Amino acid sequence: MEQKIAFEEHFNTPEFDKNIPDYVRPEQMVEIRAKLLDVADARLREMDAAGVGYSLLSHNAPGIQGVDDPEDAVKLARQTNDTIAQIVADSPARYGGMATLPMQDAQGATEELDRCVTQLGFPGVMLNGFSNTPDGKGAWYYDHERYLPFWERAESLGVPVYLHPRNPLPANAGIYEGHPELMGAVWAFTVETATHALRLMTSGLFDRFPDLKIILGHLGECLTFNMWRIEHRVNSMGDLRKFNRPLGTYLRENFYVTVSGNFHTPALHNALAELGPEHVLFSTDYPYESMRVASDWFDTTDISESDRQLIGQTNARRIFPNLPVQIGNPAA
Ligand code: ZN
Repeated sequence: MEQKIAFEEHFNTPEFDKNIPDYVRPEQMVEIRAKLLDVADARLREMDAAGVGYSLLSHNAPGIQGVDDPEDAVKLARQTNDTIAQIVADSPARYGGMATLPMQDAQGATEELDRCVTQLGFPGVMLNGFSNTPDGKGAWYYDHERYLPFWERAESLGVPVYLHPRNPLPANAGIYEGHPELMGAVWAFTVETATHALRLMTSGLFDRFPDLKIILGHLGECLTFNMWRIEHRVNSMGDLRKFNRPLGTYLRENFYVTVSGNFHTPALHNALAELGPEHVLFSTDYPYESMRVASDWFDTTDISESDRQLIGQTNARRIFPNLPVQIGNPAA
């Protein structure tokens, strides 16, 4: 399928080159770090070869979310978004921007969201999980009431917020002691992000802001598979409930999932069965995954052609405001 739209497509800025943990083998990370810094020829060639017409670029995890000092986070987010805006201005038919936000300062994040959407024209946001507390030892999750004005603004601007994984901080990673092989995309990312998504749902956030759009990668971080059991058992928690509707309703109405990094047809069928084809979207997780592998699988996997069209392009055009009409390489 040509002209696919992808939006878990990571890049990095030189200032953050040292901030990336070795998510995979150190020798493989050398290549990944180089690919993250490239938004020119090599990346565009990979997009062309994979039939990806348009990538919404996002700052690599943990990025701004891993900064301790709120003032630094505000300043660095602004710089990073200006860099993204310049990349987009240089290649408007190939790249768009996912805003990166300093959630360490809730008001600063809301103001930067506003700037990114209304002045820089970004159609979406990517948050790389929780944000560091100022002492660097704790985590701020976005179900806290300090973020209500942020969510209100995200809803009124109509931009989706992609909740991307990061590793838990050492204080919250006791269960992985002695098992570093379970960190990152192997398992820790999934637990961290699925739990954060459930915190948003159970906080009542979507009762206050019913038009919020949240995106999860990796085919929904296991939530589509497990939602029946979660919803079934949460009903027995009685007065602990702070939300009004069945949790699966929020998942189906407020959440979208991408196939990023999870190129497995039975898992895709599960997401389609639980959410419907209008809430499933293409993405790759480049450069941690190969765009070519993602596309070869997606272009031929066992789904209807109408679903492939929705997932590969039409849904992205519906949920992201103001994508350019003309995308892709005119010479391809
Ligand atoms: Zn990713």
